[in-house]
Amino acid sequence: MKTTFQITPEGYYGEFGGTYVPEKLQYCVKELQTTYLKVIESEEFKQEYMQLLQDYVGRPSPLYLAKRMSEKYGCKLYLKREDLNHTGAHKINNTVGQILLARKMGKRRIIAETGAGQHGVATATVCALMNMECVVYMGKTDVERQYVNVQKMKMLGAEVRAVTSGSMTLKDAVNEAINDWCSHPEETFYIIGSTVGPHPYPDMVARMQSIISEELKGQLMEKEGRDYPDYLMACIGGGSNAAGTIYHYLNDERVNIVLAEAGGMGVDSGKTAATIQRGKLGILHGSKTLVLQTPDGQVIEPYSISAGLDYPGIGPMHANLAKQHRATVLAINDDEALDAAFELTRMEGIIPAIESAHALGALPKMKFKPTDVVVLTVSGRGDKDIETYLKHFGE
Ligand SMILES: *Cc1c(COP(=O)(O)O)cnc(C)c1O
Repeated sequence: MKTTFQITPEGYYGEFGGTYVPEKLQYCVKELQTTYLKVIESEEFKQEYMQLLQDYVGRPSPLYLAKRMSEKYGCKLYLKREDLNHTGAHKINNTVGQILLARKMGKRRIIAETGAGQHGVATATVCALMNMECVVYMGKTDVERQYVNVQKMKMLGAEVRAVTSGSMTLKDAVNEAINDWCSHPEETFYIIGSTVGPHPYPDMVARMQSIISEELKGQLMEKEGRDYPDYLMACIGGGSNAAGTIYHYLNDERVNIVLAEAGGMGVDSGKTAATIQRGKLGILHGSKTLVLQTPDGQVIEPYSISAGLDYPGIGPMHANLAKQHRATVLAINDDEALDAAFELTRMEGIIPAIESAHALGALPKMKFKPTDVVVLTVSGRGDKDIETYLKHFGE
């Protein structure tokens, strides 16, 4: 049987995925499972979604041939510029889609989790746009670390709830958001920010982001005379920008997929977020996937310089792609990502998000042929990371 990398009707990618939620949530998750495809495949949804992506988000995002970097790495390197989207990253593609779905389902109250605050801002933005109530859960540690994004969310009209359980970071914010959903299942829609969580979230978020590879097909055809690249490269936190980048190429064996996870201080240092290399099979936030955990199953707090990649799990789609050897997964450490961020800044005049810099940090580890067409997704812009960059400037 030919392996496919698509999801099964039960929400599995190989052995990963599924729906592992408390009893109280089963009805809501089921409602979402039976509704999402009907809605997002309807003409009405597609039209409104595409219109907003164009006029509000600013799509299509450009596909830019980075000439100096191409020369350095001995290939034709194209950058997919998700950093140019409204709110500064790919996250808005997903929140626009999910809020339209929420409205269609008659929900008036939106909740979300956020780590660095990027997904929180993208959610608060679409809630302002659609005049919906918005509550964002954020670990107290992150609230303190991400002052500007917290203020932006408040300005946009969202209520930011600081989470004081556990390590007071992203995984705890997700737990609290799930608790909230359990307590108000009827009126609440939970907008998850990445390809994680119970089915149908990984598939739903991947579909919302698949606009990235849909655009790539046309853009590559125009620039290269063929609609596929030799390599696709992206960073992975939960996996959504990568999922969007590879979505329409999953079954195209001519296309090599390279994913960059956060090595932190090194995969063997104990301070890492390299979930695919260091994780074990477990259940996290409603999904069976690879999880950073102790031998007795306690979740280990991940570490990365990049708040957006600092997650102890990984999307089930990506766990499966790694297991099936469809994707090559490299761990990029903090220092490698920082070097890559400065390199892009100085060679192309683009300051990338520190998350995206992990994908760039994989370039020196690759062996390309001069004719190879490489597409690397710059998932976001670096404005939010300026403090981090300045701290390391000149090191
Ligand atoms: C959130 C974020 C990521 C990581 O999330 P994915 O779901 O893995 O894409 C990457 N880059 C940026 C700029 C982000 O804001």
